[in-house]
Amino acid sequence: MINSVRSRLALLFAISVTILIVLYSGSLYYLFQQSVLADMDRKLRDDIETMEMLVEKWHGDSKSFESLKELSLDGFDPSNWITEVWTVDNNRIFTTGKLDDFPLGALSGNCKSGMEPQNKTLSSEMNIRVFCAPSEAFPDQLVIRTARLTERMAHQLSHFLSLMLFGAPLIILLAGLVGYFLARKALAPISAIVEKAKIISADRLSERLPVDNPKDELGELAQTFNKTFERLEHSFSQMRRFSSDASHELRTPLSAIRTMGEVALRGSKSEDNYRDTISNILEESSRLQSLCESLLLLSRADSGALTLMKSRMNLKDVIHDVTQILGVLAEEKNQIISSNVSADILVNVDPGFFRQVLLNLIDNAIKYSPEGSKIEITAEVNQSEIQITIKDSGPGISIEHQKLIFERFYRTDSARSRNVGGAGLGLAITAWIVSAHGGRIEVKSELNKGAEFIIHLPTTSENGDSSI
Ligand code: ADP
Repeated sequence: MINSVRSRLALLFAISVTILIVLYSGSLYYLFQQSVLADMDRKLRDDIETMEMLVEKWHGDSKSFESLKELSLDGFDPSNWITEVWTVDNNRIFTTGKLDDFPLGALSGNCKSGMEPQNKTLSSEMNIRVFCAPSEAFPDQLVIRTARLTERMAHQLSHFLSLMLFGAPLIILLAGLVGYFLARKALAPISAIVEKAKIISADRLSERLPVDNPKDELGELAQTFNKTFERLEHSFSQMRRFSSDASHELRTPLSAIRTMGEVALRGSKSEDNYRDTISNILEESSRLQSLCESLLLLSRADSGALTLMKSRMNLKDVIHDVTQILGVLAEEKNQIISSNVSADILVNVDPGFFRQVLLNLIDNAIKYSPEGSKIEITAEVNQSEIQITIKDSGPGISIEHQKLIFERFYRTDSARSRNVGGAGLGLAITAWIVSAHGGRIEVKSELNKGAEFIIHLPTTSENGDSSI
């Protein structure tokens, strides 16, 4: 079992090269063998033609076939030339070689009718290739047989084979080494990524993997990891900020409660004094409670444990209910809440969560607007969405704060906001609820010119039931 990808790639490469080499060498050997045989057969035919020519000349000089043994082979090298002339009644009348050296044996019947060249092993262990054919000029009288030693041909073929057998393992070994080297080079960035990834931990999430070539596969892999690290880093820092903000927000009312209790216990106080202290403690406790509820809601939202139970509601009715609840607070500040919402706008929302959105926004408008000011609620429907606007004439929100007010625990003026009451979670919860309904919320404002919060919700036909 090979565990390293590098070695596996090298092995695969070597196996592929081996298969290719075997196929290529086999075909090459076959072709070479065929070409050597064809060459030999051509020479055998040439030998027969030469003999034929000599016999014809002999006969042309009016000499008998029986006297053919006197034929002179001047100008030829008989040692390389084994050719015989036979009469059709099986009498050898001429031979170029020494019969003892090349005992070709008696003439076979095939020879007389003509045959293809054949390989033969002589009694002396010599390998030859034999070819015979009836004489062209005297087909009814003479048969010419010729043979050539195949030693040279066999030598050529075995030389060729040994070259291949010796070369192939060398090439395969080289292929394995080259494959290993190439795989090592190609996978080197992965080793770098692995090394770097090992040192990136929760404390060092700001580190990034090296990206040598962002366009190749490894570059894409490193970039994907880097994006994941970026998201992790963001989530971690959000989590840290959230925990530290949450503990800070919890600590303040808790220490207020503790101090009030300690002061009350010091010496004896009047009943009114105790009542005051208890009422202050209750006020801080209820603030703590609402803070804990908000934190719980956000953490359940983050973990995906909240489900919207939507139903169709008349927007005018919901706004009416909410303004009724908050009317007391507005009255305390002599504020007027006016709503201009037509009766036929339907929203498909979770009633509890949607009321919370309106409560948060209208409550903020009341809290942050001066005495005697006016808060306007309007709604309109266009083709794809419902827009609900809550407009006040309070201090407004500067551009730089507008980007941040939907973040958790964010307050434009912590000191002032704390006195007014919030922990900076209301808008974060509002934005989450709106987006869980498939909508979005935006703020339009200028300092000292009031603020306008606009909720964009999909129209009821698109705003089907959804889970979060
Ligand atoms: P809080 O509970 O403190 O009101 P929010 O999340 O509701 O928290 O609001 C965040 C901050 O946005 C507030 O502290 C306040 O500074 C600012 N803000 C919200 N609504 C308004 C408004 N209508 N006018 C001016 N400032 C606002």
